[in-house]
Parts: sequence; structure tokens; C-alpha cells
Amino acid sequence: MAELSPVLKQATPVLAARGDGVHLYDEDERRYLDFTAGIGVTSTGHCHPRVVEAAQQQVGTLIHGQYTTVMHRPLLQLTERLGEVLPAGLDRLFYVNSGSEAVEASVRLARQATGRQNIVAFHGGFHGRTMGAGALTTSGVKTRAGIGPMMPGVVFSPFPEAYRHGCSEAEAVRFALTELDHVLATASAPADTAAFIVEPVLGEGGYIPAPPEFLAGLRERADRHGALLIVDEVQTGVGRTGRFWGIDHAGVRPDVVLTAKGLASGFPLSAMAASDELMARAWPGSQGGTYGGNAVAAAAAVATLDVVHEEGLVANAAEQGDRLAEGLRKVAAEHPVIGDVRGRGLMVGNEFTTGDGKPDTAGAARAQQAAAERGLLLLTCGPHANVVRMIPPLVVTTEQVDDAVSIWAEAV
Ligand code: PLP
Repeated sequence: MAELSPVLKQATPVLAARGDGVHLYDEDERRYLDFTAGIGVTSTGHCHPRVVEAAQQQVGTLIHGQYTTVMHRPLLQLTERLGEVLPAGLDRLFYVNSGSEAVEASVRLARQATGRQNIVAFHGGFHGRTMGAGALTTSGVKTRAGIGPMMPGVVFSPFPEAYRHGCSEAEAVRFALTELDHVLATASAPADTAAFIVEPVLGEGGYIPAPPEFLAGLRERADRHGALLIVDEVQTGVGRTGRFWGIDHAGVRPDVVLTAKGLASGFPLSAMAASDELMARAWPGSQGGTYGGNAVAAAAAVATLDVVHEEGLVANAAEQGDRLAEGLRKVAAEHPVIGDVRGRGLMVGNEFTTGDGKPDTAGAARAQQAAAERGLLLLTCGPHANVVRMIPPLVVTTEQVDDAVSIWAEAV
């Protein structure tokens, strides 16, 4: 009998049978509060009726069109709708299926558009598991073990991590930008640097929001050196942080925006947005993918954007995110093992540290397990998997946030 590969590392022993809103049910109808949202994907909750209806309707009409052969209405509608929410000027869209593929697309675009090779990425960043996106990734201590050599032309610079460096946010930003200038003077001269790629909130690396001054510093250096600023909004986009895009908190203009995860409420879909002028510098046919911009996924994404807008989910993410963080800080105040609670909107992390300030991976795993036993599903992140993160669907209610905090208090 065939079995699943042990490479599939499952965080909890739950066999999910169905989902409804913020809840998952196992085959015995045991109910779980799902504060993982399928790693930040089920933005409108599990099986939102509007998304289900749009997908079912599309399945019966046209499942697959293939944009290099024929165009279809759902993708045109989605493009129009994304144009309404994207930063001004980013009105050309390209679609694939996953975050990693969108990252790959942005590397191709940046290299073609600038004629330069290097991409500067930041320590602790996660951009995917394909060999190109993986080359930009350093979120976990084991991320690359036994996998290299990776794509060449990647240079790393520090991300501002105030808590871990035991300094103020302003000091962390100063340090990170000084190091970046050093990188640009040594490892990746401006004439070789095609782009900076950054997450508005370091996701898999431990839920660390990028200070606005850091993002502004990247914009200023991108302009000065003729490099592009690629913002990886795969985890932070579509309202997750309490603004439509994570970069909106900084008021900084990106050259390229990447989105996936929450975009289609669970259907595989990702997009890269850039200006007309930038996209025109890539040769036609240099980007593409058989399943990219699938009609059912695109219809689900249009319905997702409708729900996000009509149900006020961006504002809900801001409100419930504040409530969640406040509740978690009260729990942390009673348990010194949680050294830091931080995040933005509905991306909140609890960093576990031992008494002598070292990462407490086992403590985080035990708390995650204890929460699952009490009906609350959570994930970990961070370089040592010592941050327990909460990333519920954007439809989460006050009552559900309060329930999750009480379960968490017990579990910790
Ligand atoms: N970029 C970011 C910021 C992510 O968080 C992820 C996935 O967690 C990816 C890229 C890769 O996305 P995918 O797993 O869909 O390839």
C-alpha cells in the first residue's frame, strides 16, 4: 500500500473533513478553530458561499482556457478588479499558480528589465521553495540543507530585527540600511543590482513587521541605483495586515507587487503586477505557465475581492488583529517563555525564548500541540520554529478571537 512521503511534515494530527468559515471539522465532526487558514490562504473563511457559488458556476462553464491560447472573462474581470486596489501605475498583470512562481516571474522580469543579474534579498526572508525562489530564502536554519547549489546572483542583507538584536526599532533600521549600503559598495555593485525583494512583514522568518523607515530606505536606494523594488505580498496581501497591501502601512511605492495565498480563498492563483513600461521590457513568451490564471481560480478570486470589499474584511483584520495582539500580550505577560508578541493585522507571532534568551523550539511545539488538543489550530515559524503564529481567516469575529486567546492561555 502506498503512503504519503515523510517529506510532508504535518503540524497537527487532524484529518480535515470539511471547513466552514473559521472552523475545520474532522471526520468525527470534532470542531477546530482554524487560526492557520491553510497558511494564510482561506481569507474569506472556509467555503464562503459567494466563493463556492462563483467556482461552481465557473466549473460548469469553462474550467481551463489557457491565456497564451485564448483569453477568458474571469481573468479579464480579475485584472480590472485588481487594478482598482493596486498601487497607482501598477496596471499590468501576469498570472501563475503559487507564490513561488510569482517570485520566479519577478526575478525574470527584473533581470530582463534592467539587464542586471543580482537580486538583493533579506536575511530571514521566505520567498518559496523552487530553486530560484529558494535561493532568495533564508527563513529557517535548515531551509537549504542538502539542496544547493541554488540560483546564482543573490546577495543577502540584514532585515531589521529589533527584538532579536535587543535594540530599538530605529537602531535596527539604521543598522540594516547601513549594512545594505555596505552590500551595495562591495558584494553587489549598483550596476549589477537588478532588484531588492522584501516582505512587508517577514512571514516564515518569524512575523516581524518591516518598519516603514526601512521600506522607505529601500525605495530611496532603488531610485538612486536604478534597481527595482519588488514587494512580496504573498502572505501579507489582500487585507491580511489591516490594509489592502502590507506596503500600504509604509506609504512606499513598489515597482513590482506579488500576490497569492488569500487572493482566491484557497484556489491556486498568484499574480505579479508592474507598470506597463516595465512589463514591456520582458519579451513576449518569456513568462507563462500551463495552468496560470485558471478560469475557476480567477472566478473565485473575483468573488474573494467582492467579499473582502462588501464585508469590510480589511477593517475587520485591523480591528481583530489589534484585539488578538492585545489578548496575546496579556498571556505573554504571565509567561516569560513568550519573549515577544508582534505582528500586523491578522498576522501575529508569539516568540518563545528560554530563560537565557535562546530560541525555545520545544516550548513553541508543546504550546502548539496543547492548543490543537483544545481545538485551536496554529502554526509555527521563525528560524528555529520557535514562533507560534496566528493567521486566522479575515472573517474572524470578536468572539472567536476571544475564544482563541482563552484556549491559548490554557495551552501555554
Ligand atoms: N512568498 C512569501 C512571502 C510566502 O509566505 C510564501 C509561502 O509561504 C511564498 C512566497 C511561496 O508561496 P507558495 O508556497 O505558494 O509557493
